Parts: sequence; structure tokens; C-alpha cells
Amino acid sequence: VWLQAQSNLAKVLTHQTFNTWIEPIKYLGSKRNVLLLEAPNQFVRDRVSESYLPMILESVQSLTDSQTKIELLIAKPKLEKPKQPAAPEAAAAEPETCAGPDHSTNLNPKYTFDTFVCGGSNQFAHAAAQSVANSPAGKYNPLFIYGGVGLGKTHLLNAIGNHVLSVNRKARICFYTSEKFMNELINCLRYQKMDQFRNKFRKMDILLIDDIQFIAGKERTQEEFFHTFNSLYESHKQIVVTSDKFPKDIPGLEERLRSRFEWGLIADIQAPDTETKVAILRKKADADHISLPDDVALFLASSSTTNVRELEGMLIRLGAVSSLTGKNITLDMAREVLKDIIVDKSKEITVEMIQKFVAEHFGLKVADLKSDKRLKALVIPRQIAIYLCRDLTKSSYPEIGERFGGKDHSTIIHSVKKVEKLLSQDFELRNTVDTLRKGLLS
Ligand code: ADP
Ligand code: MG
Repeated sequence: VWLQAQSNLAKVLTHQTFNTWIEPIKYLGSKRNVLLLEAPNQFVRDRVSESYLPMILESVQSLTDSQTKIELLIAKPKLEKPKQPAAPEAAAAEPETCAGPDHSTNLNPKYTFDTFVCGGSNQFAHAAAQSVANSPAGKYNPLFIYGGVGLGKTHLLNAIGNHVLSVNRKARICFYTSEKFMNELINCLRYQKMDQFRNKFRKMDILLIDDIQFIAGKERTQEEFFHTFNSLYESHKQIVVTSDKFPKDIPGLEERLRSRFEWGLIADIQAPDTETKVAILRKKADADHISLPDDVALFLASSSTTNVRELEGMLIRLGAVSSLTGKNITLDMAREVLKDIIVDKSKEITVEMIQKFVAEHFGLKVADLKSDKRLKALVIPRQIAIYLCRDLTKSSYPEIGERFGGKDHSTIIHSVKKVEKLLSQDFELRNTVDTLRKGLLS
């Protein structure tokens, strides 16, 4: 995968950029959906994380799936490499050992409140994060931030840590993904260093755990996290976790953890609206010195993706093409460069495709969607299908009505309005509609 991704990147980056930054990156291995890559040194790693990671991720995800993540590690100097002839495989895939006294916070200094664009979709989570950063272990403990992929959870989590650190350089903060927490736990168990493990986490002032959903189903990790949580909570230390789901909706999450997450504040991040997407793109373009015309910003923002990382990837790609060709970014260039990503498939999608897709998703028959049956289990899927027809096809209300068993156009309008209203109120429904739309467009 990595070789393929590299060769794809070689096509869009300048020769020099590619040779300097992408070529030296080595593939170490992968565990579950995480691709482990290794940069030769800190400098390359920082530079790549800063400028090319979204692009790399996009490239890798397009070859695997959208859940794939990348961990970019720094090559250890050869001398320090511990000799472990017993399990070279595991050693390669698990370069992190049980950390002893670890003073690094793991925070990403790029992710601050300054670089975060606050819009309607993330206002609440942003305010909650700021409040926690300004008074840790105050009103909102724990803080639980949840939302879909690429909506800024990791960014906000880091921003809290970075802010606290900027006020108090001595604050003991650690940022961990739940997977890293688990790996470290496993290593400490293996080498019988559990005391070290416990001491390390329990002396923190602020514990930031990213993507907590991954500990679901992992008994020992949940158990250990539970004790860490209690110990920190009792000593009035701040805990912040993020997740892609509401606590109640994380399958395999122990009840006692779930209830603790609900003790504090739960804040969601919604998909950004077009204006927020534009604002994020502007900010990013300014930071990267990319000159981005308004119409192009709007073009990118109006793409169906709500994943900010994908948006950033598009911008970086445009920036690369622009500097490669020496031409300014224009709408035509954007259309051309991003034609594989921003596909205007609306012409190709038909009412029949939508009916079939929605019916399959809900395990219903197409005939049920077209019928007039008022069963609850049918009404919502039917309304969603109608809404998507209106959204993704050029069909008029009467035409849609015709294809839905000869319904009156006012029924169709009612369905569309109903779904529009629900979209602004019902997070789950919104997710479902987003998933369906993505599925249809891909
Ligand atoms: P998540 O953890 O929710 O999947 P991330 O925090 O990793 O998402 O965000 C993905 C990318 O989008 C990051 O580069 C982040 O800086 C950027 N991003 C997301 N939301 C915003 C925002 N509101 N303002 C600025 N950048 C954002
Ligand atoms: Mg994240």
C-alpha cells in the first residue's frame, strides 16, 4: 500500500518535494487500521506532519478505506535499537516500549485554539474545550467530545493541552490515543512494570485520551482506565476524552465507564456548514501562504465531504499543483485537479438507484418505499429516500412523486421539509443521511 501511495504522491508533488519529504519515509508495518511509517529524523517528521500528512492520508485511504490512520514515527538511532531477536516482527510493529518516566506530552503544537475555526457546528465543543483549558477540573469534568471523522476532535483535545501548557509550563499533561494507552499497558504488563504505568498516569494533572471508542471490548484496558479515571477524578484532575460516538452508542463499553463519561459534560461536534468550511479553508490557506480565490474556496467547500482533513488535503494538493506549474489557483484548475475527488455525479444518480440503496440500507423492499403504508419503520426511510432524490437528482417534485408509486407532489415536498427539519435536530439521522449520501456518491 505504501509503495502504491508513494507512487501516487509522486504524480502530484514536485520532484523535489517528493524526494525530500516523501521518498525517505519507510513503511514499518501496520496494526489494525493504522499504518506505521517512519521518518528518518525529527525534522522530516515535523515537516511532513505539518504539510503533507493530510495528502498522504488521503492517498493511503483511497487505497485502503477511510478509517485507515497513519502513525508517523521517528527512526531511532541505530545504536539504541534494542536487540530482540526473539520477535523481530513485533518489535517492528510496536516500536514503543513501556515508557518509563516520560516527560513528553505527545501534544501536537500545531493544534491550538488559535488555529481552530469556530463555527455553528463546533461552537459548543469549542466553548466547552476553552472552559476546561481555562479552568481545568472546574465545572466540566470529565469532558467528553464526540463527533464524526475529521471534524476537529483531536485538534480541540490538543488545543486544551497546549493552552494549559502555555499558561503553566510545568503542568503535567499527557495526550494519548486510547490505542497507545492500550499498547503501553500491554507492554507494561509483559515486562511487569505496572507500577510504573499506574504512577505515570495517576500523577497527571490533565489526561487527554483521544478516540476512546477503541478501548471498547478490551477488558483489561477498560479496567485499568477505570482505575486511572477514578484516581484522577478523586484528586480533582481534569480528564478529557474524545470519541466518534455518544457514550451510550459505543458498543462494548463497560457500563461503569459509560456512566462516568456521563458525569461531566458531553459536547458534540457536527459536520461543518459551507460557511465554516470556507472559513477553515481560508485560515489554512493563509497559514500555508496559498492564495485561494473566493470562488475556489466555495467550490471546495460545496463538495459533499464534511471531513475537514479531506478539505485540507484538497487545498494542499491545489497548492502543490500551483507551485509546480507556477500558475495561480483558479476555479478551472481546481475542477481539473480535483476531478476525481469532487465529482459532480448528481446527473448520474437516478431515483431508482436511491430507492434501491436506501431500501437495502434499512433492510426493506423497494416496493415498501413506494407504497403508502404508514408503518413507522417505513415512513422515515421513505422520507429519507425522497429527500435524497430531491438532493441528488434533477427530478422535480412531481417526477419524484410519480416514481414513488404516484404520490402527490405536496407529499413529496412535505417529506423533504420533514427530513430537512430532522437533520438539524437529530444527530443520528443526520449521520444516516450522510452515510447514505456518501455511499451513493462513491
Ligand atoms: P478528528 O479527530 O475529529 O477526526 P481532527 O481534529 O484530526 O479530526 O481534524 C482533522 C483536520 O482538520 C486537522 O488538520 C484539523 O486541524 C482540521 N480541523 C478540523 N476542524 C477544524 C476547525 N474547526 N478549524 C481548523 N481546523 C480544523
Ligand atoms: Mg482524531
